[in-house]
Amino acid sequence: MKKKIVFATSNPHKLEELKAICEDKCNVEFILPPAGFDPVEDGVTFEANSLKKAREAARISDMPALADDSGLCVEALDGGPGIHSARYAETAQKRIDKLLAEMKYNTNRRAKFVCVMTLVDKQGKVLCQARGECHGQIAYVQSGINGFGYDPIFIVNGTDKTMADLSEEDKNKISHRSRALEQIIDYLKVLYR
Ligand code: IMP
Repeated sequence: MKKKIVFATSNPHKLEELKAICEDKCNVEFILPPAGFDPVEDGVTFEANSLKKAREAARISDMPALADDSGLCVEALDGGPGIHSARYAETAQKRIDKLLAEMKYNTNRRAKFVCVMTLVDKQGKVLCQARGECHGQIAYVQSGINGFGYDPIFIVNGTDKTMADLSEEDKNKISHRSRALEQIIDYLKVLYR
């Protein structure tokens, strides 16, 4: 029987991506946290916020938990919006518009998506923490309808496509989330062999 792990998110896109990446690679079923899951994300690093979310999910569900904290870091904006990516503006479209406006006259378009995943046991003890990055450039105009968040303005290095132009399958081969998750999966394979 598959082991159940709570995935500490309220973002259904993230759960879908996680399930697609994991498929049958490990003997785990990821489930959403119970109602009332509302962690305070006041850490100053992706690592700290990811750990806080995982511990809060483990505490309220009394189960092992996996959490991610992720964001877009833009070199010309001193790494911003970074850990503030989700709260940079009110809606996904407003966040894109704001970032494009801030970058309007900037020729340094270098950016990266970062994801830190933390797996804790049901007592909140860290079992594994992993970071994945995906490097690219901020586009001048948005393109694509797949994915979520900043995907339409992130051109993946080595391609002329934004993340939102890629199919879900292709995004999952190179994304920051899959790169972090592959390391967690390697750990889970040993833990639940
Ligand atoms: P979190 O839920 O606190 O990790 O917030 C992450 C935020 O960063 C999301 O709300 C998105 O705005 C952005 N983000 C993280 N991962 C991605 C991605 O794969 N594509 C696009 N935007 C992302």
